[in-house]
Parts: sequence; structure tokens; C-alpha cells
Amino acid sequence: MLAGEKSPLQMLLVKLFAVVPLLALAAAVPFAWGWGLGWVDVGLAVFFYTLTCLGVTVGFHRYFTHGAFKARRGLRITLAAIGSMAMQGPVIGWVADHRRHHAYADKEGDPHSPWLYGTSAAALAKGFWHAHMGWMFDREQTNAKRFAPDLLADADIRRVDRLFAWLTVLTLVAPAVLGGLITMSLWGALTAFFWASLVRVAVLHHVTWSVNSICHMIGERPFEARDKSANFWPLAIASMGESWHNSHHADPTCARHGVQKGQIDVSARVIWALEKFGWASNVRWPNAERLSRKLK
Ligand SMILES: [Zn+2]
Ligand SMILES: [Zn+2]
Repeated sequence: MLAGEKSPLQMLLVKLFAVVPLLALAAAVPFAWGWGLGWVDVGLAVFFYTLTCLGVTVGFHRYFTHGAFKARRGLRITLAAIGSMAMQGPVIGWVADHRRHHAYADKEGDPHSPWLYGTSAAALAKGFWHAHMGWMFDREQTNAKRFAPDLLADADIRRVDRLFAWLTVLTLVAPAVLGGLITMSLWGALTAFFWASLVRVAVLHHVTWSVNSICHMIGERPFEARDKSANFWPLAIASMGESWHNSHHADPTCARHGVQKGQIDVSARVIWALEKFGWASNVRWPNAERLSRKLK
């Protein structure tokens, strides 16, 4: 299940990636108070948030991890690249961790279950921290040969995986360059870097991590699942449909997570559009009969 340990450099980078954007987020509120946030920053932040979030939800998660649809080569490489730009780790490791999560959901072996320490208040506080961020600081690495052999066998994906450091530079520098060019000022580059690079990465980090923590603790559980996954509606928009997490664990390969009436799922909409354009095919749309069997 595990394979080796992260190197000291990898551990340092994980901490840096997890903590620096968080500090930016903490600084954002006083910074925004009256100065240093313009419409260009907002526009760039929303654009890069949407792009990289979909890279993770449609790409890393629904496509690479669960095979919810088939993608043409161009789309496959694009999804791997923009998902990498979310700074949640290279694609192969991300997928291996997440497949391990489903294989052992909320049991020994799950890399980020909040339920591993018990159910007392103190144990749950510890579990929440572990599921949200703490698990990334574990030294052990998921065995990609066991959990993601398909991606290891794919030369395109191995290449994108190796380019992770450069895609990280790109995701941090591109908003600053655009902000500078649009406003034709260094200040514009600086505020765009702060909002559309650092704060944007931090917000998406915490939304993604909340699916691992909150969505395994709080919410509705309309479907039969072997774990504690739950549908947590307040995160539906920000997570682009991923917070319908109980439905997802009940039917992991389904391209739509918000399968019930009124459940907004932006990622599913995007997959629908990709199918219309002919870039995605064999989409595993919800099956009414399969769903009704899993309803409690
Ligand atoms: Zn889960
Ligand atoms: Zn999943």
C-alpha cells in the first residue's frame, strides 16, 4: 500500500505550499480593507480559481481517478496540466492517494479519514485536522505502482507529472504577469500576485481539503455507503459539485456527483459541454435504477 518516504526537500515543499498561501489568506482581510483589491484582481482570481478547480474536479478526480469518461489526448493532457496548477501535488501521486482513500474509506489505510482517532470531542478535533491538512505531513507515500499503474504507463501523463515544478511556477507567475500587463503597472502585478495567485491557491486548497474533512463528518447521507461520506450543501458552488460527497462514495465512477434534484454540480455541467464538443465520450451519467438501489 505504501512505497517509500518523502525526501526532506519534498517535506519542506509540502509545508511551504500548504502554509504560505494560508498566511496570504489570513493577511487578505485587512489588506482588502479599503486598498489593494481592484476588479482586475477579482477577475483574475475568479478565472484562475475556476480553471484550476476544474482541473482537479473534472481532471484529477472524475477523469483520472475514477474514469467517469473517456477524453481525447489533448483534453487528457490539458486536464493533467491545469489540475497540477492547483498546487495539490503532481497528478500521479494525487490520483494514487485518492484511490487509496476510496479503497479504505474511513478505515485503517485511508490516507485522510477524520475517524481514525475515535469519536470523543478531542479525537474528532484531531481527526478533523488530520483529514484537512495533517495527513499531507505524513512522511509515507502511497504506492503509485499499486494504485495508479495506468497513469505510470502513460508517457504523456508521466511528462506532465515531471513538469509539476514548472506548472507551479506558472500558476504563481501568470496572474502577476497578466495583472501587470492589464493595468500596465508593477502595483497591478503585485496585487494580482497576492489575490489571484496566493489567496486563490489557499482558498482552493481549503475547499478541496474540506471535502476530505467536513464532507466525511457533517451533512446528509441519503445514499448507502460503506463510510461516513456526507453531502454538505454549503460547499456545492465553491467545490464545483464535489461536496455531494455521499452520492460520490455511493457511486464513485459517476460523472455527476449532485445526482438529486436541485443539487448544483458545475463540474458535471462542464463534462456535459466537453461531451457536446466531442472531446469527452463514454460519459458515465447517473443511472436511475442503480441510484435507487443505493438510496436508503
Ligand atoms: Zn471521500
Ligand atoms: Zn473520489
